[in-house]
Amino acid sequence: MLDRIATAVTLRNRGVNIPKVVCKICGAADETAVHILLQCNYAKRVWEEITNWIKIPIIDTDGDLKKLMKDINDIQRNWKIKKVIHAVTIQTLWSLWRARNDKVFKGKHEGLQIIVEDIKELPTKV
Ligand SMILES: [Zn+2]
Repeated sequence: MLDRIATAVTLRNRGVNIPKVVCKICGAADETAVHILLQCNYAKRVWEEITNWIKIPIIDTDGDLKKLMKDINDIQRNWKIKKVIHAVTIQTLWSLWRARNDKVFKGKHEGLQIIVEDIKELPTKV
């Protein structure tokens, strides 16, 4: 939310010489945190699958991360379910960031189903 992860754009803003700041996954926009985690077409599809899976309303992927956390928090469920929704949300953000790093540093791009299965399998300690 504070835009602290080391995306190409934030590194450039910190003075690191990065000639290309475009998203390595879709190539259609600058690589900012909100793009990787929410607005990238790849991220949008992951969120679609995940919200479908945990049966919550589709999230607004055109907003920002602050809005995402607020929307998640506003979902009307009992506190136990809300904890699970929150944990899955954090897990999804983490997996999207990891998928980006695999692409940037290892050159491999996980297919949609693989990352979605990964998110579903990871234990959520609640
Ligand atoms: Zn993208």
